[in-house]
Amino acid sequence: MSQLDFHIPIAYLKGVGPSRAELLASELGIRKIEALFSLFPFRYIDKTRFYKVRELQQNSSEIQLVGKISKIRTVKQKRGSRLTATFADATGEMELVWFRGAKWIKDSLKVDTPYVIFGKANFYKGTYSMPHPEMELLSSYEKSVQTALQPVYPSTEKLANKGVSQKVVSNIMRNLFKTYYHVIPETLSSGLMENYNLLPKNEALLHAHFPKNQELLAKAQFRLKFEEFFFIQLQLLQKKIMRHQKIKGFPFASIGAYFTDFYKTKLTFELTNAQKRVLKEIRKDLGSGIHMNRLLQGDVGSGKTIIALLSMLMALDNGFQAAMIAPTEILATQHFEFVSEVLKGMNVTVSLLTGSVKAKDRKEIHQNLESGQLHILIGTHALLEDKVVFQNLGLAVIDEQHRFGVAQRSKMWLKNSLPPHVLVMTATPIPRTLAMSVYGDLDISVIDELPPGRKSVQTVHRYDKNRLAVFKFMKEEIAKGRQVYVVYPLIQESEAMDYKDLMDGFESISREFPKPTYQLSIVHGQMKAADKKFEMDRFVKGETQLMVATTVIEVGVNVPNASIMVVESAERFGLSQLHQLRGRVGRGADQSYCVLMTSFKLSEQAKTRIGTMVQTSDGFEIAEVDLKLRGPGNIMGTQQSGVLNLKIADLVKDHELLKLAREAASQVLKEDPTLQLPSHKNIATTFQEIDKNASMWSNIS
Ligand code: ADP
Ligand code: MG
Repeated sequence: MSQLDFHIPIAYLKGVGPSRAELLASELGIRKIEALFSLFPFRYIDKTRFYKVRELQQNSSEIQLVGKISKIRTVKQKRGSRLTATFADATGEMELVWFRGAKWIKDSLKVDTPYVIFGKANFYKGTYSMPHPEMELLSSYEKSVQTALQPVYPSTEKLANKGVSQKVVSNIMRNLFKTYYHVIPETLSSGLMENYNLLPKNEALLHAHFPKNQELLAKAQFRLKFEEFFFIQLQLLQKKIMRHQKIKGFPFASIGAYFTDFYKTKLTFELTNAQKRVLKEIRKDLGSGIHMNRLLQGDVGSGKTIIALLSMLMALDNGFQAAMIAPTEILATQHFEFVSEVLKGMNVTVSLLTGSVKAKDRKEIHQNLESGQLHILIGTHALLEDKVVFQNLGLAVIDEQHRFGVAQRSKMWLKNSLPPHVLVMTATPIPRTLAMSVYGDLDISVIDELPPGRKSVQTVHRYDKNRLAVFKFMKEEIAKGRQVYVVYPLIQESEAMDYKDLMDGFESISREFPKPTYQLSIVHGQMKAADKKFEMDRFVKGETQLMVATTVIEVGVNVPNASIMVVESAERFGLSQLHQLRGRVGRGADQSYCVLMTSFKLSEQAKTRIGTMVQTSDGFEIAEVDLKLRGPGNIMGTQQSGVLNLKIADLVKDHELLKLAREAASQVLKEDPTLQLPSHKNIATTFQEIDKNASMWSNIS
């Protein structure tokens, strides 16, 4: 039999047929034989071990016992009757209970005969009872050949109703292995299998579906998960290598006057070691003649902006223009003001382009950009419009990347013959596992150190009923000359209600903090950009002490004098949002505070989120918790990636394995970048197959 047979429809397999094939396709998406192999059981019933009554524990899963039955009784209930029996082994007694079919069961039960029973035991009023146990006489149990661990396959109501039961699926699987076991091709090299102590592919598949014991199951899963990660890593790493080899970039050969002057005369602080290291990584990329596509991760306040600026100056030094894109107008404006300010007197032209720039000014910007008179353009995604044409864009910096899609990112590339170098900056730390699997083809730099002298933000959790104490604390801080943020949630689905909450909150804060002693700013998404800016500016200048806002201030805003962040309904925010919000304070020399206000009733997840925030300020740690709580599918940027289609591996639980697989893939490519070696033939064949499928999918979508 040739390999091709794995691509035939499952209808041809014994035990399936056309109608079941249609059901399996519509309900579980299984169409071809090969897909059937990857319909893995999601759990296993462990019948490898017999428990004693004495060993029973509360909340244990389904277990198996051997013993005899006595004292069969029918107990009258309100409706019908219930049947009970005493079940005993040498160590103790428990109760078996039937709520349905009492009569029929009663007639079939044999007293004083050894039974094997199987089920879940509940603890109630001092005794254990097992409702509706599966039962088999020990004598017949011993005769039947048992698969030690019984697979439980994913199913749906429709499948079950139409008779595609667990038993049917198990039988289909048995037929599958009977027919195909000996032609299942090995996908990994013998070198890898030896190094990582992996089972052969066919054995691993067999034991994943029909494991004889826990140990074999673990070995099988290890092998299959390893393989799944391995090929994803191989793909990502090869993409990276090819990009490095094939995609040329403008070589920024020299470090010139712009960079050096700025570094020597304008930079008022010493870069942190992490910043220096990252700058070196960027310099190396930019000088290499290879296209740079680098992700710069750094917690809020770690000083990414200055790195962006220095990188842009390298572009200028080599006769190129540079651009910087931010996700909001407020943030773009702040970048613009910062950059213009620090570059004063340096003969660099900088402009701001956002949606609210007037047509006349916009036209001038377009002209200066095309003529090359304009060196640096900062703005929102208005920069990505077709009318915006650079003379020679050498570097594009994208701030806070989770607001931008991949499509927009690559659009920037089309502006010249060669793509500009791209530096993507994100303040949302990406867990290492995700960084490896989703962004595995990008180059990643990390600023993992805050500038010196920062005090970590003290974070507390307060219930709504403690509001007065919180107000009092706010007043004390304001009396010391500090400023305060009060943030309300704004979730798209309940926008009207959230807006009302914000207004109610604003009113009560206005009452508590009356003019003229206190001045308040308010910023929310429904305001015009100009009004937002006006209110923001008043706060930045210190004219107002309180900023009441929805999450529009989440990103990037820098007001060093603000030292308190009060988050209202904090339970409604995600972890990364809370972390971002907290990052708005603690930017100056003063001790800063973050107060998370919640109602009294909290879900378990909300408790974990709030608890995590109170406990740690390490963005990476927070990101790991977030990944565990929400799963990879809900973390930014994962939507386009293969990690969501994992069939057996789990990004969170199996991260150690992911590391191993990445290491292995990297080693293989180092030895044999194009997978030409005879010893890598299995890997190459599988890889081509995966690639073919992947490109087929991308053509469809
Ligand atoms: P983020 O990484 O969140 O974008 P910023 O670039 O806004 O952080 O930097 C936060 C603040 O820290 C800014 O006021 C910036 O000037 C300052 N800063 C950056 N690097 C250093 C440093 N090495 N030493 C002292 N202050 C620094
Ligand atoms: Mg920033």
